[in-house]
Amino acid sequence: MRIPLVAGNWKMNGDKAMAKQLCHTIADGIAELDSLDVVICPPYTLLTTVEAALSTSSIVLGAQDVDVHHDGAFTGQISVSMLHDSGCRYVILGHSERRTLYGESDSLVADKIRTVLSAELSPILCVGETLEERQSGLTDQVVHRQIEAVIDQNGIEAFERTLIAYEPVWAIGTGLTATPDQAQQMHQSIRQQLAGSNERIADRCRILYGGSMKPNNAKTLISQPDVDGGLIGGASLDTADFLAICQAARQA
Ligand code: PEP
Repeated sequence: MRIPLVAGNWKMNGDKAMAKQLCHTIADGIAELDSLDVVICPPYTLLTTVEAALSTSSIVLGAQDVDVHHDGAFTGQISVSMLHDSGCRYVILGHSERRTLYGESDSLVADKIRTVLSAELSPILCVGETLEERQSGLTDQVVHRQIEAVIDQNGIEAFERTLIAYEPVWAIGTGLTATPDQAQQMHQSIRQQLAGSNERIADRCRILYGGSMKPNNAKTLISQPDVDGGLIGGASLDTADFLAICQAARQA
């Protein structure tokens, strides 16, 4: 059985006061929700603030990215051991904003997966197609290619610990959401792809949906048999919305 997971990606938002208030309220709000994993991924500068604010809760800390190298002369970058030292357990990798705005390739993302796994953290691998790719009938091909790069470079065993977030690029921050059928279709297709290499790993791998998930659509999306939770952008900055999504995931 796969325990649902809800992860909040704050992107480049927030300050210390907001982080403390939001984390305390969310921690209080989810105290009674069992069988649900919750992860908060703030910007690097807020990792220690969020870690302290969550210290008595079951919510865990994640980061939004990491450098592929372990240490050295990489001005401005953050290493996986620094994340580990800051209390992180999860790292989002290959978010479409990183792929598009910072030119991250499938191969670099797959290398980062190896770096993150070596520190015994759990990667959340983001995959997804653009609107143009969907309209050209390329959705499966694009998403499978992004996942295949990870399998090729790290082996299917990488998915013992790596979660996948299917995030159609056209749904991120746009208010457009995949329909529950579209999400289920893609999640099932991803699981079948993993099963082609290892059925046990495919069955256990948690596949999250991301892309304008809100309180009003979370329950139907997460109720789909292959949707195991959500990666939440905008709504993770609103306490009431994030809590409502957590509650929906628990009930789904
Ligand atoms: C995201 O950026 O991962 C995301 C899903 O954003 P939003 O929920 O705002 O669409």
